[in-house]
Amino acid sequence: MRPQARTRGEPSCPRRRLLFRSGIKIAVIGGGPAGLRAAEVAVAGGADVTLFDAKRSVGRKFLVAGRGGLNLTHSEPRDAFATRYGGPGTPDGFWPALLAGFDADALRAWAAGLGIETFVGTSGRVFPREFKAAPLLRRWVERLRGQGVRFAVRHRWIGLRPGAQWILEFEYEGGKSSFECDAVVLALGGGSWPETGSDGGWVALFRTLGVGVAPLVAANCGWEVDWPAGFVAAAEGHALKNVVVSAGGKTMAGELMVTRHGLEGGAIYQLGPELRAMTAPAISIDLKPTFTAAQLVARLGPLRGNFLAESRGRWRLGVAAHALLSHVAPSEAHASAAALAAAAKDFRVRLVRPRPIAEAISSAGGVRWDEIDAALMLRRLPGVFVAGEMIAWEAPTGGYLMQGCFATGTRAAESALRGAPPRNGGMP
Ligand SMILES: Cc1cc2nc3c(=O)[nH]c(=O)nc-3n(C[C@H](O)[C@H](O)[C@H](O)COP(=O)(O)OP(=O)(O)OC[C@H]3O[C@@H](n4cnc5c(N)ncnc54)[C@H](O)[C@@H]3O)c2cc1C
Repeated sequence: MRPQARTRGEPSCPRRRLLFRSGIKIAVIGGGPAGLRAAEVAVAGGADVTLFDAKRSVGRKFLVAGRGGLNLTHSEPRDAFATRYGGPGTPDGFWPALLAGFDADALRAWAAGLGIETFVGTSGRVFPREFKAAPLLRRWVERLRGQGVRFAVRHRWIGLRPGAQWILEFEYEGGKSSFECDAVVLALGGGSWPETGSDGGWVALFRTLGVGVAPLVAANCGWEVDWPAGFVAAAEGHALKNVVVSAGGKTMAGELMVTRHGLEGGAIYQLGPELRAMTAPAISIDLKPTFTAAQLVARLGPLRGNFLAESRGRWRLGVAAHALLSHVAPSEAHASAAALAAAAKDFRVRLVRPRPIAEAISSAGGVRWDEIDAALMLRRLPGVFVAGEMIAWEAPTGGYLMQGCFATGTRAAESALRGAPPRNGGMP
């Protein structure tokens, strides 16, 4: 994708540009899925749209998501779908209403409109048939350009001040530029994978603007464990398959991957909100969920010793599960078949901390819900709308993140098109 930098030498926009198309001039800042979608809706609604991004090209995290096959959305019914979203202070009924405006079927139809066929995998997740993000992004950006969206890359947003409506300020090639517009959609992303541009740098700027932001923290992330010597050598890179993991009253079935740092994988990612709320985060793993403890004991038969070695074959334990029982379980668990079975059914692992936010798939925290109205407009900055992961919602992996970004991008742009109320004077 060739970057365009059309705002060079454009200190503020000539007034005639304001009258282009519908007369509404909308700036979208952030070229992830939420911002690209907002630009698409805004231009389709007749606005004059410029999309700014700090990086040399847009959609970098979208491309990273493509490495895992690009799980675009999920096929579960909309009611259940809406329950996947959380975050402190989320207004009641927000997600069902939002998804009614742009749901998984709409997202699949949108992809089809770009010539990208999608399919539902065995887990109910929806992927592009090719499992790739690059062709989709390329066609999307080409289409946006064709529709008249201007791309201003390498423009880092650094502030805004009142003008006729708003004047945005950017850092651009070591200097500064400004851009006047009627409405702004900010889609600046969360704080994970900062090399993609989503570095959370906007949080400090929001604070100077008086907008409340909950600290960005790692979500959908691994957790560190203080593994005893020997365990990492035996189990690193091996999965705990078909386990059931519990924490804070919630239980998830799935898989965990053993790393030298701790544990990764869907089952622990989905427990993030519960684990973050615990003062001493810990999980309980049921290594053999389809058997009761009594059945496990029965499988060891009349053995009087050597339970541990025998459990590997008789319980069909994988490398990582057996290594857990061998190297991590307390010595009492090796005393009897019943004690070993009890450990296998309720294997406690104390977690030290989440892995760094830079490694996380997504972040929680962001613009607080009490700062936003139902149109996704910042209450303190009329005409400034927010979309995507920068809002304080979170969701598990499974396509819910992408769907949330598309749906909020849609809502923010539709709201921006309706026009901003007067600012009632200067900055708050
Ligand atoms: C490894 C990985 C795999 C993932 N896989 C999936 C998946 O399969 N399915 C799924 O649903 N989700 C997935 N996600 C999550 C998904 O990619 C994100 O939730 C989504 O990209 C967030 O979109 P966004 O538009 O809100 O922000 P982003 O995509 O983060 O985009 C934000 C943009 O804002 C720009 N920006 C930031 N600050 C400024 C500034 N001051 N000035 C100008 N521009 C700025 C950035 O350069 C960036 O381009 C994955 C994430 C990762 C890291």
